[in-house]
Amino acid sequence: MNSTDLQQLIDTTPTGLFIGGEFTDADNGDTFEVINPSDGSVLTTVASASEADARRALDVNADAQTTWGTTPARERAEILRRTYEYLIDHTEELAYLQSAELGRALPDSEAEVTYGAEFFRWFAEEAVRVRGDYRHAPNGAGRIIVHEQPVGPSLAITPWNFPLAMGARKIAPALAAGCTMIIKPASKTPLTMLFLAKALKESGLPDGVLAVLPTGHSANVSALLGDARLRKFTFTGSTEVGQMLGAKAAEHSMKVSLELGGNAPYIVCADADLDVAAEAVAVAKMRGAGQVCIAANRFLVHSSVKDEFVAKATEVMKSFRIGPGTEDGVTYGPLSGADQLEKVSGLVDDAMERGANRPLGGELPDGLHPDGYYYPATVLTDIAEGSEILTEEIFGPVLAVSTFDTDDEAIAMANNTPFGLASYLFTENLTHALDLAERIEAGMVAVNKGALFDPAAPFGGVKESGLGREGGFEGIHEFLEPKFISLPL
Ligand code: NAD
Repeated sequence: MNSTDLQQLIDTTPTGLFIGGEFTDADNGDTFEVINPSDGSVLTTVASASEADARRALDVNADAQTTWGTTPARERAEILRRTYEYLIDHTEELAYLQSAELGRALPDSEAEVTYGAEFFRWFAEEAVRVRGDYRHAPNGAGRIIVHEQPVGPSLAITPWNFPLAMGARKIAPALAAGCTMIIKPASKTPLTMLFLAKALKESGLPDGVLAVLPTGHSANVSALLGDARLRKFTFTGSTEVGQMLGAKAAEHSMKVSLELGGNAPYIVCADADLDVAAEAVAVAKMRGAGQVCIAANRFLVHSSVKDEFVAKATEVMKSFRIGPGTEDGVTYGPLSGADQLEKVSGLVDDAMERGANRPLGGELPDGLHPDGYYYPATVLTDIAEGSEILTEEIFGPVLAVSTFDTDDEAIAMANNTPFGLASYLFTENLTHALDLAERIEAGMVAVNKGALFDPAAPFGGVKESGLGREGGFEGIHEFLEPKFISLPL
């Protein structure tokens, strides 16, 4: 797609609030700018929802709830299935749109379209498989029917790092279960979600079932957590914000799911295939320039193989080409904004000041726009204890290596964090892998691979990484409540 076509795509993507099936201006006319992270320019401006807009969206969604909740599951499923097909048919446009607003390289954006679309296909299949239960009371005194019902109007708040999939992972199961939903995308990346609203509308979603509320003032939308009509809150983002909003949701005892920050260990054992362990860095570390909640964050490498692993992993990192996300041949783009750039460079600078070695990194190639938020692929070794990079979620293309000598030490290091989202381990011995996998405190463990996402699998974390699961057979139950109907024998 050339730059004229890209501009035309941006100009034809909706920029209004999506309420009641229509794209509209904010009631106070407020807007905010969407910035291109590759050069700091303004891509477009988008309507910014006020608190009154959020209330109006909830009025509409609450009205639509009964009808949508009792719409035959097959009808709901077919809308989801058509949405899946729409997204796949529009992969190129959607990938360019994501790369424009997020800065991310096109191959990663294309992969996200497939991943995000797949939630609509998976939950189209799950919508018609919701079942209850019929039992006899153990004392013989009654019959028990368990009936699964939609929990009701739901609110979703999502981050910028997967502008389509983080929303799709919530919208698809909510709609499949029969819930209406209001979603607030991150202000860095609202265009993808507005494109998705258009896709759902064109796939036949009735008016009022979904609202999309971009805003420059997120508290305008989270104010809905104080409204008792809302029955479900689902959040993906940082632990700090998720816990704060989750506590507000708890005041109305609403059902809550939280997908929060990670600090994934990447354990390379002495008996690992080091080529496999190094190749997996391409996805586990470099996908989205490392701005991924399940990105490998702490590389824990057996001391006997550290030098060889670092040499091989450095070659993999070097093979990536930095540049504007929408440019052909680019394999990693800028970070999403000045805040991310400051954070990542701060973590590396702190480690360097404390004496770390940097076999790769330190400078950017010539020719990048000076106002882009670029950070070069970086490898750090010999990191001093106390360095912030050993405990913080990096969210950048920085591979930070520590060493261990025994499995107990590796497990102690891996679990020495409040987080427990993803983890990775590399060993050629299956029993060894299972032993370590069972001991790691994480919601997900990848063995001998750097990718860990599948709409058919339950995605989520333990400890301060979250509450609940998205995807898999489990995902739809986050939007259902079992009702016990009691009958005499
Ligand atoms: P963030 O917590 O800053 O923002 C997430 C969302 O919350 C955004 O839409 C933001 O506008 C909104 N928000 C922020 N403050 C708010 C407030 N006071 N009231 C209402 N809404 C508010 O996170 P981020 O920087 O967008 O995303 C990065 C974080 O997300 C990382 O920690 C990453 O690990 C995490 N993440 C987790 C998962 C997962 O599945 N567990 C997936 C992707 C990202």
